[in-house]
Amino acid sequence: MKGFAMLKLNNVGWVEKEAPKAGPVDAIVRPLAISPCTSDIHTVWEGAIGERTDMILGHEAVGEVVEVGSLVKDFKPGDRVIVPAITPDWEAVESQMGFSQHSGGMLSGWKFSNYKDGTFAELFHVNQADGNLAILPDNIGIEEAVMLSDMVPTGLHGADNAEVAYGETVAVIGIGPVGLMAVAGANLRGAGRIFAVGSRQVCVDAAKFYGATDIVNYKDGSIAQQIKEATNGKGVDKVIIAGGDLETFEEAIDIIRPGGIISNINYLGSGDYFKVSRLGWGCGMGHIRIIGGLMPGGRKNMEYLSNLLKYKKLDVSPLLTHKFDGLDKIEPALMLMKDKPRDLIKPVVRI
Ligand code: NAD
Ligand code: ZN
Repeated sequence: MKGFAMLKLNNVGWVEKEAPKAGPVDAIVRPLAISPCTSDIHTVWEGAIGERTDMILGHEAVGEVVEVGSLVKDFKPGDRVIVPAITPDWEAVESQMGFSQHSGGMLSGWKFSNYKDGTFAELFHVNQADGNLAILPDNIGIEEAVMLSDMVPTGLHGADNAEVAYGETVAVIGIGPVGLMAVAGANLRGAGRIFAVGSRQVCVDAAKFYGATDIVNYKDGSIAQQIKEATNGKGVDKVIIAGGDLETFEEAIDIIRPGGIISNINYLGSGDYFKVSRLGWGCGMGHIRIIGGLMPGGRKNMEYLSNLLKYKKLDVSPLLTHKFDGLDKIEPALMLMKDKPRDLIKPVVRI
C-alpha cells in the first residue's frame, strides 16, 4: 500500500509499505476523510519529537473498518468509524490513573505519526479497536467528522483543563482551528467574556461565530497590555494557549488573575524553557496554576463529542476552508498547513 510519510527530518514523500495486519484486539481501517495537523508540521520541520524515518504521517481520520481481530466485540468490517488522534493502551497504569494520553509513558497514547504509521495511507492500524473507535453517526458528514479526531477534543480539552465556569472571562491565545475549538469549548462551558487573540480575518470571523466577544490582534502590540487595558487592569480568570511560542507564557502570566489557570494545548515544537515572572506569579504564592495537556482519545470521548455535532450543539463547518478529493491530495493539503495562507483554517481530504 502507499502512504505519505516523513522520510526524515525536513523531508516528506510517498512510500510503499506492506499492508498492516490486525492483532486480536485491533482493527484495520481504510480512510474516508483525513486532515493534516499543525502537529505534523512541528514533527517534520521542527524536529519536535526527534528523527523519524519513513514514518507515514497523519493522525486525523474517519474511515471504514476493513478487518478486525478475533477478540474485537463491537466493530466489524464495513462500519464507518471516527478514529481519535490519541489511541491509548487502556490497561496501562497511566490510564488507570486518569491520564490515558500517557499510557506507557509521556505522550505514549499518541501513536499515529509518532510511534507508528499514521492515517495518510490506503490502510492504517488501530490498536484496541473496542476502546478506541467510535461509530460515525449517520447525520454527520465525513468532512465534519474528521474534526472530531483532534481539533474538537483538543480545543475542548483546553477549556476543560482551564476549568472554565459560567460568566468567567477567558483569553484564548492563538485562533487557528485548535484555538477556535477552545473558544467554542469556553463558550459551551458558559464563559461570559471571551478574548480571542489572533490576526487573520478568516480566524477572527470564525472566533466571533464560536462566541468570542473581544478580538485582540497580537500584531498591534503586547497581548498583556491590550487585555489589561480592556479589563481595567484586572486581567482574566483563565488563559488558554493554542498558538505562539515559549514567550507566550510570559504574556499569559501577566494577564491571569490570582487563582487563575493557564491551560496550554499548544505543541511546543522548539526551545527549551519558558519564564514565569516572579511578580506575575505572586512571588510564588499567587495560586496560579499552569497546566498543559494532550487531547484525550478513546471511544467514549469520541461518542460524547460526536453528540455535539449530531445534536447541533457545535458546528465545525466554518473550520473547513479547503477541501480536496483523493489520497494523493494529502501532499498539497499538508503544504497548506505548513505555509498557512491567510484564508486557511483547516484543509480536509476526502478519499
Ligand atoms: P495554527 O498554526 O493554525 O494556529 C495557531 C495560530 O496562532 C496561528 O494562526 C498563528 O498565527 C497564531 N499565533 C502565532 N503566534 C502567536 C502569538 N504570539 N499570539 C497569538 N497567536 C499567535 O495551529 P492549530 O492547528 O490551531 O494548532 C495549534 C497548536 O495546537 C499547534 O501547536 C498544534 O501542534 C497543537 N496541537 C495540540 C494538540 C494537543 O493534543 N494538545 C492536538 C492538536 C494540535
Ligand atoms: Zn494533531
